[in-house]
Amino acid sequence: MKFRYSILLLSILLAVSAAAEPTPSAAYNRVLFPDRRCQRAMSENSTRLGAPPVAAECEVWSEACSDAVLKVARQSETAEWLRGIRRKIHANPELAFEEIETSRLVREELDLMEVSYRYPLAKTGIRAWIGTGGPPFVAIRADMDALPIQEAVEWEHRSKVAGKMHACGHDAHVAMLLGAAKILKTREHLLKGTVVLIFQPAEEAGNGAKRMMQDGALEDVEAIFAAHVSHEHPTGIIGSRPGPLLAGCGFFRAVIRGKKGFAADPHRSVDPVLAASASVISLQGIVSRESNPLDSQVVSVTSFNGGNNLDMIPDTVVLGGTFRAFSNTSFYQLLERIEQVIVEQASVYRCWAEVDFFEKEYTIYPPTVNDERMYEHVKKVSVDLLGQKNFRVVPPMMGAEDFSFYSEVVPSAFFYIGIRNETLGSTHTGHSPYFMIDEDVLPIGAATHATIAERYLIQHG
Ligand SMILES: [Zn+2]
Ligand SMILES: [Zn+2]
Repeated sequence: MKFRYSILLLSILLAVSAAAEPTPSAAYNRVLFPDRRCQRAMSENSTRLGAPPVAAECEVWSEACSDAVLKVARQSETAEWLRGIRRKIHANPELAFEEIETSRLVREELDLMEVSYRYPLAKTGIRAWIGTGGPPFVAIRADMDALPIQEAVEWEHRSKVAGKMHACGHDAHVAMLLGAAKILKTREHLLKGTVVLIFQPAEEAGNGAKRMMQDGALEDVEAIFAAHVSHEHPTGIIGSRPGPLLAGCGFFRAVIRGKKGFAADPHRSVDPVLAASASVISLQGIVSRESNPLDSQVVSVTSFNGGNNLDMIPDTVVLGGTFRAFSNTSFYQLLERIEQVIVEQASVYRCWAEVDFFEKEYTIYPPTVNDERMYEHVKKVSVDLLGQKNFRVVPPMMGAEDFSFYSEVVPSAFFYIGIRNETLGSTHTGHSPYFMIDEDVLPIGAATHATIAERYLIQHG
């Protein structure tokens, strides 16, 4: 009910502003008169009067077009509605593939906006669309899942679910994409194709993006964009880069078996502790000795567990860790070499080893690589919308993101949007129990998403 009220209030406000504005700009008119018939009548009139209809249609993007988008996004009702959605999702976090209520909330909002959608994809995912229903199709994506983390931030809308928290900002991603839907709906008559809105489950675990694609999320889609909130940049700053942005990520666990025996008689046992120790040392040589130093890669051993009796050599040691790289070639070379090094080192010490990369459990993420042209598009849109000083070229990061599955299939760009506000304390990294966001990012993110999509269609429609 709260949201119905907001939409009503928004309509009243738009009508009041229309009456109060003595000389509304062409762009402003488009927002005030979203009805197709009114727009057509205006265009016909202006053609008859000899005025250029092109500018009024935003076919050539102008400052007035950016202002019109920002105006809808920044209306206090819109900002309040966005905060409300984000807080509701934040207070009710759901883990991968369990995003039942989050998905329901999204669909309720889409219903209120009269936006069509297909559901379910990948259990809880949604593919919605706004525009002509025909090509070109451009997609914007938000992830919906939370993390198994206990929230440590004391605030009114903190997580109500013990041990679960939106500590990566996916609650904000959902709100921003719904905000983009609201903006695009007011501009539907201007769209030169179709914007596909993808609300996906299970980014943090389970390869939700892959499952969404298997269920047709990218049908007809020729380009895709997505944002991630970032505590490294002040609120509203957009950051991205061409080419590799986020690393491919994999995990491994090796079981090294020997033969149990008294520590006082090592010659009667086969020692897996020594074999595992040699493996850990040798694993360090893969990146430092075998990889091109200009092609950043990581192999980290993070776990090492053997026996618990100080007087006994155990029969098994289990070690594990993670590995990262910025190209698929380097990534799979690492995977191959990790297995070889562990198996061969184990055999040097008369042990036997097997290495699991959890491929069946969907924990391998390819690198996220931005298409040069799509990156340029994000940059241009951001600079035009928010100003040159609010766009940054950022360095690649060793983190991973399952958006990479989309970027393997269609040209794409992934970008960050800053949420850092020292006064609020939104300075903690994602996946921290102290993670929080500056909610002023929501209208900016909504406007950026909407404009990226609308302008893509203008250029490719
Ligand atoms: Zn995350
Ligand atoms: Zn995330």
